[in-house]
Amino acid sequence: MSTPAQIAPLELGGVDKIVFLTGAGISVASGLGTYRGPGGLWEQPGAAELATARAMAERPLEQWRFFSALRRQSFASEPNRAHQAIAALQRRHQKDMEIVVITQNVDRLHQRAGSPGVIELHGDIMRTRCSRDDCELEPFFDPAPHLERVPECRHCGAPLRPDLVLFGEPIPVRAERSAKQALRGCQLFLAVGTSGTVTPASNFVRSAEYEGAHTIVVNLEPMRPSNPYFKQELLGPAEEVLPRLLAGAG
Ligand code: ZN
Repeated sequence: MSTPAQIAPLELGGVDKIVFLTGAGISVASGLGTYRGPGGLWEQPGAAELATARAMAERPLEQWRFFSALRRQSFASEPNRAHQAIAALQRRHQKDMEIVVITQNVDRLHQRAGSPGVIELHGDIMRTRCSRDDCELEPFFDPAPHLERVPECRHCGAPLRPDLVLFGEPIPVRAERSAKQALRGCQLFLAVGTSGTVTPASNFVRSAEYEGAHTIVVNLEPMRPSNPYFKQELLGPAEEVLPRLLAGAG
């Protein structure tokens, strides 16, 4: 276990594939709270119920108002040093390494920091799509709030919905497939700002370890219970740990 002051830059000699899995903890310094735990979004009265598939069917306007507030918050925030450190590493190694970001976050901050090809496990708060899965309407960028009425699909007239994974919904097949593919041949796996003990981090680290990757978890809190698939645990805020860890790496 290391604290930020003791963290030395990673040695990347011989590594040509790195996978990051990021969670809410990486966006805290951007002013976006974590979702679980004390003070988290899902602890606010009624919040968790509004983020369900059931609420979409029964209270769509209330749900749109709730997600519109989150949209506004994400839109007003900026990527922090942790997002930037990952994007800078990708830029430095765009020719000689494959570096993939898989995120549980919906805030689009990795993309705004310049990370290409981010795999979004839970969707994107700034995207809207048709509520009918068989509709031909492509999900589209939509930072606008919807506060007065539920927007409708211009193709089929069905209600539109945020392109997010709601409670009670599975991770989109395409994202899951991309994530699995990314883990193939991975030599270094870093979970950042996400608990190492719950899915998907716990599954992903197992796959990475099976591939023979070195595995690191960067989080504020020590893992409890600890997960033996992580070989290294670095404690501290992501925006302090990552710039040190990735500084001039390679
Ligand atoms: Zn439609």
